[in-house]
Amino acid sequence: MEQTLSIIKPDAIERNLAEEIKNFFKKNNLNIKDSKKIHITKEEASEFYKVHQSKPFYNDLCAYLSSGPIIVMILEGENAVLSNRKLMGATNPKDADENTIRKMYGISIDKNSVHGSDSVDNAKKEIEFFFKN
Ligand code: UDP
Ligand code: MG
Repeated sequence: MEQTLSIIKPDAIERNLAEEIKNFFKKNNLNIKDSKKIHITKEEASEFYKVHQSKPFYNDLCAYLSSGPIIVMILEGENAVLSNRKLMGATNPKDADENTIRKMYGISIDKNSVHGSDSVDNAKKEIEFFFKN
């Protein structure tokens, strides 16, 4: 069974949406194999998002992900990586399809409620980052 990494970002935690988002994954055949609420440092966020280090939004992104508690989860299911990406919707909530997490809950392109791995390879690395010491 494939696994992927999901993060419920600070904007969604702040608005008490974690349970609703978790239930949405479960209802759509993604099981939550592991889950923990953490508050990472800006340095940890910078390491996690280092693929984006050349982007103009990198600094704000890292500041944001470390601005409050997040929930990191291992999701498991058939085609979990792609399935999660579909359930999340487009990066910009304005462009996201109906019945996707970002359409339902996202506020803006930066406060878009969730992160999800974009490939099986990155999923392995991201799960390792948060769950294996
Ligand atoms: N992001 C942003 N401004 C942009 C593009 C992205 O703030 O113009 C943030 C946004 O929170 C996004 C994250 O950077 O979720 C990572 O960007 P990516 O392109 O990987 O989008 P995702 O994979 O999250 O859909
Ligand atoms: Mg991405």
